[in-house]
Parts: sequence; structure tokens; C-alpha cells
Amino acid sequence: EQLYEQGLQKTSQSFGARLNAFFAKFRSVDENFFEELEEVLIESDVGYETAMQLSDSLRTEVKLRNAKSKNELQTAIVQKMVELYEAGGAGKNEELQVTETGSTTVYLFVGVNGAGKTTTVGKLAAKLHGAGKSVLLVAADTFRAGAVAQLVEWGKRVDVPVVRGKEQADPAAVVFDGVQRAKDENFDYVLIDTAGRLQNKVNLMNELEKIERTIKKVLPDQPTEVLLVVDGSTGQNALIQAKEFNETTKLTGLVLTKIDGSSKGGVVLAIRNEMQLPVKLVGLGEKVTDLAEFDAEKFAIGLFR
Ligand code: GDP
Repeated sequence: EQLYEQGLQKTSQSFGARLNAFFAKFRSVDENFFEELEEVLIESDVGYETAMQLSDSLRTEVKLRNAKSKNELQTAIVQKMVELYEAGGAGKNEELQVTETGSTTVYLFVGVNGAGKTTTVGKLAAKLHGAGKSVLLVAADTFRAGAVAQLVEWGKRVDVPVVRGKEQADPAAVVFDGVQRAKDENFDYVLIDTAGRLQNKVNLMNELEKIERTIKKVLPDQPTEVLLVVDGSTGQNALIQAKEFNETTKLTGLVLTKIDGSSKGGVVLAIRNEMQLPVKLVGLGEKVTDLAEFDAEKFAIGLFR
């Protein structure tokens, strides 16, 4: 809880500060009110479409309730944000899914370089390991210099084994070894870190497909989750990346990182609303414990703190 509030402090300092400044000037609900609100939302990376949608639903709500005071309006905005977020899930599973007990659950992490894949894998490994689960990490980012070493480092830190190949090894071969070992040794979880060079999109997507096929060769009902990791502080870029990956890989959810450092944070709403994908985890910092489930209500209320 506290971690969450601390992590979101910067987001509320900017997105929230904008909203608060806007409300400080508040006199009456007129056309100007909605136009200015739309601007504030767009500036906070909520995105044009989502900003318009929020503003429209707020108009309806304001009329319906005959809301006039600042308090009533703030409450209505929070409610509309939460509703918009919840509708974005479209009934999909919000939480990380697990296969039946006794078999291995595989999570595949994808995303561009620097998004926070390796860090997220490390943090999640710590969490699962701490909960008494056996976890195996697979370093399938054999492309980026240092990526394998970085994951091995995380493995040492959180005390879980890491399967790695030789430098420039075929990522699918490393994945095969890892998943096979997990199956043989009955690991609860396999977390696979992959490469993310976007300059070579076709290759990257082919590689991800090959990795998925390889996982299925060993464990036909896996991966349970294909999680796209996006850097929340890149604003609308995060949304663009999410759309690109979603075209070629069957994503089951998103991990939104760096929303602690984000000057904005509104992209959470944009991604959710435009992509209809659940945000399964959020990264709130660089420490091992800085990983949480996203809570729309806390987020929205936090903006007016
Ligand atoms: P990858 O290339 O996708 O594997 O990205 P990395 O995991 O190497 O992360 C890139 C940088 O972002 C590293 O310096 C991480 O410490 C940092 N990072 C990752 N997640 C977060 C987060 O949630 N918050 C902050 N502030 N930094 C993060």
C-alpha cells in the first residue's frame, strides 16, 4: 500500500498537480470547464480519444447528478476514470494466471530494449520465490550485450537458477533447454526474458513466434501469459509500442514500468482503454520490491491528494 503511494507520488505530482491546478481555478461547469479538462487530460498522456471519452462521460454524469461543487466534480471524475479502466478489461483476467497445481507455468516477457523486462523478471522472481514457489529464469535475450549477465545477476540476488546459452546463441535453443529443465525438475514457474530490438521488427516477431512454438514443443499448453513490458514514462510511445506488438503476438497482458518516474502516468488509462488489455503489473521503482498490481481506484483518488 505504502509502496504504491510512494511510487505514484511523481505521477500525482504532475498529472495530479495539473488536475488540482485546474480545479483551483474552478468557478462553474460550462463549456470552458470541459475544454480545459480535456487539455489537462491530453497533456497528462491520457491521449486524445480517451480524453474525449472521459470528458463526454463526465458531461453526462454532471447533468444526471446536477453536480456543481468542486467536490462533486472530483468525485465524478474519479468514478469515470475507474469505470473507464474497468471497462477496458472487457472481462479479461486481471491477475496473472497460473496453470493447475503440479505443472509448470510459463510467462514470456516481450518488449523493446530498456522497457524494463529484465528488471520485471527479477522482481517477479523474487516475489514468487518469496511465496515459496520454485522459479527458473531463462535468459533468451542473447542479442543485447549484457542482458544475460544482468539476468544472471538477478538470479543470484533472488536466489533462483538461470538457464543461459552461449553468447549469440539461438534464443529458441535456450528457451528449449530452460523449459525442458523446468519440466524435468518440476519447477512451478519459468520466466523467460527475450530480446527487444525494434529496428528489426520482422526478425523480432519471427523470433518471438519461434520461441512460442518451442515452448509448446515441451509444454503444449504454455505459455500461460505473454506479457508486454512497456515504459510508462514514454507517454504515447508506450501506447504505440503496445499496438505494434499486439498486432503480431498474442499478448495476454501488460506490465507498465517506471510509472514512479513518469512525469505523467495518464498513459495507463490510454493503453487500457484503446487496447482492451489488462495491465497485470506495474513497476514503481528499481528496487526488488517495487512491483505491484495496478489499482485504478487508488490511482484516480491519488491524483487529487
Ligand atoms: P530491458 O532492456 O527491457 O530488459 O530493461 P531493463 O530491465 O534492463 O531496465 C532498463 C532500466 O530501467 C534499468 O536501469 C532499470 O533499473 C530501470 N527500470 C526498470 N523498471 C523500472 C521501474 O519500474 N521504475 C524505475 N524507476 N526504473 C525501472
